[in-house]
Amino acid sequence: MSGATSANGHDLERVASKVESGQRLSAADGELLFRADVDLHAVGRLANLVRQSKNGNVAYYNINAHLNPTNVCLYRCRLCAFSRDAEDDRAYVMSRDEMLARAQEAADAGCTELHIVGGVDPRQPYQWYLDIVRLLHSAFPRLHIKAFTAVELAWFAESTRRPVRSILEEMIAAGLGSLPGGGAEIFDAAVRRRICPIKPDAQTWLHVHRTAHLLGLRSNATMLYGHLESAHERVDHMLRLRQLQDETGGFQAFVPLAFHPEGTQLAHLCGPSGLDDLRTVAVSRLLLDNFDHIKAYWVSLGVGTAQIALAYGADDLDGTVRHEAIHHEAGAETPEMLSVAELESLIVEAGRQPVERDSLYRRVQRQDGQWTVQEP
Ligand code: SF4
Repeated sequence: MSGATSANGHDLERVASKVESGQRLSAADGELLFRADVDLHAVGRLANLVRQSKNGNVAYYNINAHLNPTNVCLYRCRLCAFSRDAEDDRAYVMSRDEMLARAQEAADAGCTELHIVGGVDPRQPYQWYLDIVRLLHSAFPRLHIKAFTAVELAWFAESTRRPVRSILEEMIAAGLGSLPGGGAEIFDAAVRRRICPIKPDAQTWLHVHRTAHLLGLRSNATMLYGHLESAHERVDHMLRLRQLQDETGGFQAFVPLAFHPEGTQLAHLCGPSGLDDLRTVAVSRLLLDNFDHIKAYWVSLGVGTAQIALAYGADDLDGTVRHEAIHHEAGAETPEMLSVAELESLIVEAGRQPVERDSLYRRVQRQDGQWTVQEP
């Protein structure tokens, strides 16, 4: 990711003094920090300063399970190893009973959150998706439902010819608790045309999240990196998120997602290196000064890199992640799930204090098999 002329120590010192004095970094600063000839560990140290000031020595995790109701998707993005055409032998649509069984398993395992995302199956009416939220929330009211990417929600609006706001209001009434950050990929239109040509665009993604925030929902934001994008496009992506966050304050965490090419139509690419992963985490911590949390999603980064990322700006490893399918279909070699003991041990070994959080970053306390949340 380096440019034509080499950066010098003075450039980094200038950015460091901005960080140390709490000044906002510019797009040019962000692009500089992505250059391979700018010392990664110096960038990491700066990111760690910001991380310490926002979150102290705490590193968060949660106990959660994923549910992907269907892998049939009309968009068939080139970056995706998870989706299938409806007639594919490996296509599936979960029944109500299967979903209830998954939620029961999550509740029995002490999960506080169900993370529900999947394909946009044009054969299923919007009502089918709405009923998933209603069914699971009414059966397991203590499980926080974090459901549907902006891409899915935009489809519900388009297919019903209703405004996004009206769809979200109905989802909230059915039990929706917050939005995940998926579907953002890279906002740049030219890259988007090459990796997910018919998927809704950046404006649509941002519109869904803006609307959710205005309705009081919190959400996360992702960025898929390590495919065809440049440092300029990564920085552009982050700054568009920073701008929306200035406007609404509704984002909780930024989640950089490392691209895994296996099984996708971009399988000829290599994906990002470990050093690129760390630099991306660190730069995101530095540019996204109005985000409270940067997540090192261990499923995507790999357990080892995610652990190191706790010293490069990240303050959250995500969760136990029971039944993750989307990254594993794309060749992620991480385990199917991690136990609480494993997550806590990774955090302690990194010199941090593990804290279990719920979906809204409230601390979770457990006693005698029961859990409660502590209001901030
Ligand atoms: Fe569908 Fe999402 Fe896969 Fe694109 S990335 S094909 S929208 S499931």
